[in-house]
Amino acid sequence: MATTLYHWKNGASFEGTSGNFSDVTDPATGEVSAQLALASADDVDAVVQAAVAAFPKWRDTSLTKRTQVLFAFRELLNARKGELAAIITAEHGKVLSDALGEVSRGQEVVEFACGMPHLLKGAFTENASTGVDVHSVRQPLGPVAIISPFNFPAMVPMWFYPIAIATGNTVVLKPSEKVPTAALWMAQLWKEAGLPDGVFNVLNGDKVAVDGLLTHPDIKSVSFVGSTPIARYVYETGTTHGKRVQALGGAKNHMLVLPDADLDLAADQAINAGFGSAGERCMAISAVLAVGDIADELVSKIKERAETLRTGDGRRGCDMGPLVTAVARDRVSGYVDAGEAAGATLVVDGRGVKPDADGQGFFVGPTLFDNVTTDMSIYTDEIFGPVLSVVRVDTYEEGVELINSNPYGNGTAIFTNDGGAARRFSNEVQVGMIGVNVPVPVPMAYYSFGGWKNSLFGDTHAHGVEGVHFFTRGKVVTSRWLDPSHGGLNLGFPQNT
Ligand code: NAD
Repeated sequence: MATTLYHWKNGASFEGTSGNFSDVTDPATGEVSAQLALASADDVDAVVQAAVAAFPKWRDTSLTKRTQVLFAFRELLNARKGELAAIITAEHGKVLSDALGEVSRGQEVVEFACGMPHLLKGAFTENASTGVDVHSVRQPLGPVAIISPFNFPAMVPMWFYPIAIATGNTVVLKPSEKVPTAALWMAQLWKEAGLPDGVFNVLNGDKVAVDGLLTHPDIKSVSFVGSTPIARYVYETGTTHGKRVQALGGAKNHMLVLPDADLDLAADQAINAGFGSAGERCMAISAVLAVGDIADELVSKIKERAETLRTGDGRRGCDMGPLVTAVARDRVSGYVDAGEAAGATLVVDGRGVKPDADGQGFFVGPTLFDNVTTDMSIYTDEIFGPVLSVVRVDTYEEGVELINSNPYGNGTAIFTNDGGAARRFSNEVQVGMIGVNVPVPVPMAYYSFGGWKNSLFGDTHAHGVEGVHFFTRGKVVTSRWLDPSHGGLNLGFPQNT
C-alpha cells in the first residue's frame, strides 16, 4: 500500500485542499511507492503565510542562536546521512554511494553557512565627515522560494536553504514532484535541530505551485534549478512580479582531450562523468571532443571500460542505476535511435540492457557513440541520460570554438599535460565552471556554483559569497551623535567636511 505524502507547514504535515495527487515511483522496480499531494493556489498561500508569520521573529533572532541551530542541523545530518541517501536512491534511482556523495556536498554548504556571522560582517568608517560615521549591514529579504529539480533531491535545495536560513530569511521549498521525500525528511530534521516552526516549509506540487510562488506578493526571491525552458520562464515571470530571481538551467558539457593527455585518465573520467548518476547530472559530460589522431585509441579505452559497468538497482552495489521515470527512459532510448539513424557509430548500445534488479525498472545501460557530428540531435540536445558522444576535431581551436558556440555554458573540462594549454583554455572558454583534468568541476561551497548563457538566468550564482548576497539586501547607515556645534539649517546637498 503506497503512502501519501503531503506538505510541511509550520513544523507539521499539512494535507492541503487540492484533492490532486501524483504517483511517486521507485525507478529500480517501477513500483508506485507513494501518492503525492499537489498544491492548489490556496495551499500555496497557506504555506507562504506560515513563512510570512515566522519571518519577523527569525529575522531578529541573534546570529549566535541562528547559527547554533545550523550547527545542530549539521550534526544531525552528518549522523543520519545514510537515511537520506537511502531515500534518494529509492526515489531517484542513483546508486547509494552516489546518493551519499550528494548529501555530503550539500552538507558542505550547511558547514559554510555555520560561518555566517563572519560573512555578514559589514564595513564601518569612522569620521567619514567630521563627527559622522558610516556603516553597512546586510539584512534578510523575507520569505523566499526554492524550486528544485529531480536529479539532486537533497543537494540542490541545500545549495540555497542553509544560507537563506542563516541570513534570517524564511523558506518555502518546492521540490520536484518525482522525488519529494527528501525535502520532507529534511524538514523534520530542521525541527529536531530546533529551528522555529514556519522558518522552513515544504510545498509539494507542479506548475500550479510554481506559478503560485512566482506571483505571490509575499515571496521576495526565487532560487530555481531545472531545465532551460522552465528556468527562462521562471526568471521572466518572477522578475515581472518584482522578485529577485536566480534560475539555473540545463547544460551540454564538453570534455576536450588534447593529444598529449593521459588517455587512461581521460577514459576513466569520461566514464565517471558520463555515466555517474546515469548521466542525470547538470555537470555530466555528454560530448567528448577528441583532438587529432587519439580518437581511435580513446574510443576503444572508453568502450572497454563502459562494458565492465554493472547497471541495476542502486541498493545492490551496482555501478549505475536506472533513469528516474519510464518517460525519461523512453526519451533517452529515442535519442539513441535518432543517433543511429543519423549515422553516428554506435559503439556501446545501452538499450535492452539486462539490469541487476527486480520488477520493471527504467533502465538504459551505458551508451557510447563515435563519429558524432554537430548537426545530430544527440549532440545538440541535453539528453540527460547515460549517452556519451565522441566528436572528432582536428585542433584545439576547433574544440574551443564548438564549446563557445554552444548555447549552454554550465561546465567543461580539458584533459592535457600542457599547463599553457590548460591556462589558455581556462581563460578563453565561455563557461561558468572549468575543470583541468577534473571532469565534474563542481565548486566547493565557499565558491559559487553557476553556469553562463542558457545555463543560468539572473546574475547571481548559488552558494559562496554570491549566495549570501542573493539572500540579503545591503543598507548603509550614516550617523552623527548629538553635537550642538552642528545645528542650523542648510538646504544644500550634504557635503563632507
Ligand atoms: P524541470 O525543469 O522539469 O523541473 C524543475 C522544477 O520545475 C520542478 O520542481 C518542477 O516541478 C518544476 N516544473 C516543471 N515543469 C514546470 C512548468 N511547466 N512550469 C513551472 N514549473 C515547472 O527539470 P527536471 O527534469 O526536474 O531536472 C532536470 C533539469 O535540471 C536538467 O535540464 C538539468 O540540466 C537541470 N539542472 C540544472 C542544474 C544547474 O545547476 N544548472 C542542476 C541540476 C539540474
